[in-house]
Parts: sequence; structure tokens; C-alpha cells
Amino acid sequence: MGLKVCKFGGTSMASAQTITAVANIINADEERRYVVVSAPGKRYSGDIKVTDLLYQCADEIEAGNLVAFKETFQKIRARFTSIETEIGKELHIEAGLDEAENAILNGAGRDYCASRGEFLAAKIMAAVLDVPFVDATEFVRFTPDGSLDEKTFEIAAEVLKEYPRAVIPGFYGLGVDGKVKTFSRGGGDISGSIVARSVMASLYENWTDVSGFYACDPRIVNSPKWIPELTYQELRELSYMGANVLHSESIFPVRSAGIPIRICNTFSPKDKGTYIVKNSTRDMRDYVVTGVAGKKGFTSITLEKSLMNSEVGFVEKVLSVIGRRKISFEHLPSGIDTMSLVIDNEYLKDNALEDLMAEMKAVAQPDKIYAHENIALVATVGHGMAKNVGTSARLFKALSQAGINVNMIDQGSSELNIIVGVENEDCADCIRAIYEEFLGGDENEVF
Ligand code: ASP
Repeated sequence: MGLKVCKFGGTSMASAQTITAVANIINADEERRYVVVSAPGKRYSGDIKVTDLLYQCADEIEAGNLVAFKETFQKIRARFTSIETEIGKELHIEAGLDEAENAILNGAGRDYCASRGEFLAAKIMAAVLDVPFVDATEFVRFTPDGSLDEKTFEIAAEVLKEYPRAVIPGFYGLGVDGKVKTFSRGGGDISGSIVARSVMASLYENWTDVSGFYACDPRIVNSPKWIPELTYQELRELSYMGANVLHSESIFPVRSAGIPIRICNTFSPKDKGTYIVKNSTRDMRDYVVTGVAGKKGFTSITLEKSLMNSEVGFVEKVLSVIGRRKISFEHLPSGIDTMSLVIDNEYLKDNALEDLMAEMKAVAQPDKIYAHENIALVATVGHGMAKNVGTSARLFKALSQAGINVNMIDQGSSELNIIVGVENEDCADCIRAIYEEFLGGDENEVF
């Protein structure tokens, strides 16, 4: 018999009605033995996620505004107690809320505060299913620099072997200081992946509110094609570039163990969803491009220097400047006498760009240095492009016909993607042009 780990996102946990739907999904398959949950999310557009309210509480505590804190916490209390009332079962949620409120007031900290949505949601799910609750602080560990500690998997395997079934809160674990520490936003997906790897699941099901991945953002292309199967690598490229069905770091724990992920829809549970696998079962010759995704808000800094190609250590000098400033870069396209660094604008706020360029100029002494701001990166992703001659010719022809100016080109060495840099304002048109060229047509799935 297989063993499935199921992670349910915020919209699946948003109300008593959706929580009942989740319980039905779990009870319909006895292989679904470990359940990881997010905090209640939005019930309707314009609603506020519990995690957002909790971050607001943390801000109010930090600002010493107790009146505002009490008011915001009251909204969280109302959400959870209404779930309890509608479920019609004694879930002891008031006691959990009191404990959380007191701990926050007594200085438990920002991450503890943000984590309480998952904690209480898991308590509710455990009571509804009548399955033990196991806290994530029992096994998720972080390193001093805040990344996931590898010993997590061993501890989790030890802890969870005592429980044939369990409900576990996502999104957090224990920091080196012994306090609750959260992942980045959406990190419940990482928690699910950790549990799947630790119990060596046969499948990691990630239940959300869409029926899998689409070849492009539906806000950009109307009814884009559905992708039945993606490889881990394709997923990583697409989710990093803005396809936000799954947290981009959540594949790492399951990938090393070769555990497939299935994206499923809580609101349409019979849909097949998208399978994310190690090696594609599809014939690469049949499809060229799997998906297109884009992200705005980058800057490219270009350095030009005659005979750069024969100057030993030039690139090292440039990289030492960004290294010292703890700035990471996305791409490093280069020519004989030029190199560019593409950097996320998040690193370049408050004059940081001018300072950075001044230091690069002093350290590396280029003939010329200039920046191009407001760049969007668009990634065209698919293992098929390695087997299909003429892919880049088609791509650039489509962009030129759409009148889009390309500022930067980078093709990954694994021939899995072609990334182009365009003006922010051309981002959607660029995605549309590429989609139409490779994926346009009537069939509703990518081959
Ligand atoms: N509740 C957290 C968030 O809203 C984590 C998650 O849902 O995965 O980011």
C-alpha cells in the first residue's frame, strides 16, 4: 500500500465548509495518512488571510499599540470560533486562542505570532479527523543562518514513526535559539515536502484551489493549457519565475528522494491535477515548450572593458563587490569585452544602485558602466527544447513580430530554458507572444 502526505493550503482551510471538504478528501483514501495544513486563508476576494492578520498583530505589538493589537486579535478569534461553531464539535479553540494571545503579549516574538494560524488550524483538523496532532517544533530545525537544517529529516522520521497518522501544522519549526521560527511566506509547501521525505511517502499531494499548473498565468492568457506533468527542474524554473502555485523551495526535500508531487484541487477533487516527477514520461520530441512565466522588477548592470577576455580576475573583482554587500544575482550574461549582472530590485533600494556601481567602478575599473532599470525576465521552459532544432529562432521571430525589444538573452546550459530580459511594460505581451508561438491552438493540455 502506498503512503501519501497531503498538504492543504489556506483556501482549503478557510471555513468550516472547506475544512469538511478536506476531511472528506482525506477519509476517501486510507493511504492519506499524514496531513499538513496552512492557516485559514481568504474565503472570498477582499477577505484577509489569518496569517496577514497575525503579522498585523506582530507589527502592533512591536509598535507598542496594545489597543490595535487587541482589536486585530479579536478578528482572528472570531474567525476561529465561527469555524468551531459551524463544525459543531467541541474543539477547545478558545483555550488555544487565549494561550496564543498571552504568549504574544508576553513577548513570544514575531515568528511565534505568525505561526499560530497553522497551529490552531492543525488542532482543528486533528480534532475533526480524530487523528493525533504533532507539532512541527518537534522536528523541523533551522541552522544559525536560517535555512533548513538537514537533521530535520532524521528527527522527523524518529518522531513520526510513533504515529501511523498525524496532522501537522505547516510553515514553521524551531530556530537555533529554541524559539518558533517560520519559513518565508507560503512555506507550508516546504513543510509538506519535509514530512513526505521523512516518512518516505510514495506521493506528496499538495491540495490547493487550482487543478494544477497551467502553461502560463491565466491573468495573461485566457484559459491557458493545463500541464499534466512537469519535471522537478521545469517546476523550479517556472515557480521561481512567478508561477506561484507552489513555493519554489518546496521541491528540494522530495526531489532528493525522487518522491513525486501531485497538485490537486480541493474544490474539484476528481481532477487529475499536475504530477511533478523526476524524469518526464512524455516523449521530448512531441513537445518543445512546457510553460512560460515572467517576473518584473530587475536591473541589469553592464560593464565594458577592452580586452576583458584576457584580463585575469576581472569578473572576480566585480563579484567580490556584490558578495561583500550580500547581494545575489540572477544572471550573468557576458560577451568578449562586456559582462552584465541582472539583480533583483529588492537589493537596490535607497541609492544602493548608485553606491554599488561606484564601488564596481573603483574596484574593477571598467571603460564603461551603466544600468538598465525596470527589466522583466521571461522564462520559456521545457526539456523538449534540447531535442527540437530552431526553438530559439522561433522564439525571437515571435518577439520581433510582436514588436518587443529584447535587452538580454540567457540560455541555461542544460537547454531547459531561454530567458529574455524585456522592459517591465512589455512583460505580458512578451509572455503572450511566446505562448501563442509554442502553445497556441485548441487542445487543452500541453503534450
Ligand atoms: N500561512 C502562511 C502564509 O500565508 C504559510 C502558508 O500558507 O503556506 O504565507
